[in-house]
Amino acid sequence: MSGSTSTRFDVIIIGAGPAGMAAALTARQLGLHTLLLDEQAAPGGQIYRNVLGVQPAVGTLLGPDYVHGGALAHALADSGVTAWFGALVWDVSAEGVVTGLRDGQSFQVQAPQLIAATGALERASPMPGWTLPGVLNAGAVQIALKASGSIPAGRVVLAGGGPLLLLVACQLLDAGAQVAGIVETSAADNRRQALPHLPAALAAPGYLLKGLRMMWQLRAARVPWFTQASEMKIEGTARAEGVVFSSGGRPRRIAADVVLLHHGVIPNTQLSRLMRAEHVWDEVQLAWHARVDEWGQTSLPGLRVAGDGAGVAGALAAEHCGTLAAIGAAHDLGRLSSVERDRRAGPVRRALSRQLRIRPFLDALYRPPQWINAPEADVIVCRCEEVTAARIREMARLGCQGPNQTKFFSRCGMGPCQGRICGNVVTQILASEIGRPAAEVGAYHIRAPLKPVPIASIVALTEFGHPTETAGVDTHE
Ligand SMILES: Cc1cc2nc3c(=O)[nH]c(=O)nc-3n(C[C@H](O)[C@H](O)[C@H](O)COP(=O)(O)OP(=O)(O)OC[C@H]3O[C@@H](n4cnc5c(N)ncnc54)[C@H](O)[C@@H]3O)c2cc1C
Repeated sequence: MSGSTSTRFDVIIIGAGPAGMAAALTARQLGLHTLLLDEQAAPGGQIYRNVLGVQPAVGTLLGPDYVHGGALAHALADSGVTAWFGALVWDVSAEGVVTGLRDGQSFQVQAPQLIAATGALERASPMPGWTLPGVLNAGAVQIALKASGSIPAGRVVLAGGGPLLLLVACQLLDAGAQVAGIVETSAADNRRQALPHLPAALAAPGYLLKGLRMMWQLRAARVPWFTQASEMKIEGTARAEGVVFSSGGRPRRIAADVVLLHHGVIPNTQLSRLMRAEHVWDEVQLAWHARVDEWGQTSLPGLRVAGDGAGVAGALAAEHCGTLAAIGAAHDLGRLSSVERDRRAGPVRRALSRQLRIRPFLDALYRPPQWINAPEADVIVCRCEEVTAARIREMARLGCQGPNQTKFFSRCGMGPCQGRICGNVVTQILASEIGRPAAEVGAYHIRAPLKPVPIASIVALTEFGHPTETAGVDTHE
């Protein structure tokens, strides 16, 4: 049942999205003995999911940004990097022992340098009706499209804000779905806040042009489009039947069979918080991210975070950060002098800074509306344990000073998702109820296992003890 490996790696990279793939390629080029782990069956991460196996017609409709990932994934396949797919990492000890599960086999590996490239998650959108069947995250539908070319049947309404909302709407239109409406929730003030950042964004006009093209496509398809929506709820008894909201000072309703919610993505910090690295609350992105230096180095020696986990900045920025983290790791391992490190990093930093020019504009334009993080009393916030917003506020009134006490007394965040979905909202509800900044209120402590694993795989580790010999894993580097 259990396996572990005595193979020595210089660096272990967790996550094979753009950040992880770029880190692995660079580490390998620099002569580091590299192991890349990802729970998905193939490289790609979120944006390039299934890029090597996608049906050609689906690849075409997903667009050139998606196809770009193919080059990265092919380079990885040809590089000789040891990559284990279907490998879920569910624990990393303070000493850096990485524990995971692959093909039903437990494994433990260790290296002096660890790069967490675990990406982003979609922000939760708690509102009345969001737990009804037929309500999904927009990203989830995109995953089904990339993985199997399938699209939802019936009238699809997309609600929320952010570039991914528009992208998914366009991709669904191209794939033949019936897009019945777009309901944007970004507040009126967002444009005013974003305006000062427009000149910097114009210096890298590619993203703005992409945005305009998507808007033009949706307008040309005559998709009903509402803006600055508030007081939103999803109606339905056994499943979603429609979205009601207020827009332009009037109450509205759009009939829907499927409702796709999206309020941007937030860093996936489960692993770096499990390891107790320092994190920072970002007041604009309204999310936690690991505190890192310019080489992705966290507060814990030997742990780096690259890509969206260190702050959401998009796929190309993630790629550059992955490269920089690998260069930093090689330097710390004594394989690169400071001069050589800085020489290699120079062009990557310039490319990264071009990618980052658009961020302040996008972050301000698509800052989630205040009401999405302050749900009504009877809205379920923790879906696993069915804890409502009212119960979380009650915990604060009874004296809970943060998410961990709230978890202890209410079971909020104690379910199988380990607070991945509700954590961000719980922090903000408590912050507003207690009257302290979210940064002070804090986040859930994360404990292993990061995701549900069979009990036998945990027992097997105790039977086998510390890493000994390779079993059931290919360590052919
Ligand atoms: C659902 C979703 C869809 C998106 N679609 C698009 C899009 O179409 N276009 C776009 O421009 N941007 C998209 N984004 C944003 C985009 O994914 C990111 O900006 C970019 O992919 C970040 O790259 P990354 O390498 O940091 O992380 P990711 O690409 O997210 O890769 C992280 C990888 O880490 C792996 N991982 C995480 N935890 C573990 C673990 N414990 N054990 C093993 N493996 C683990 C994941 O399986 C994943 O493959 C999407 C984001 C999400 C959440």
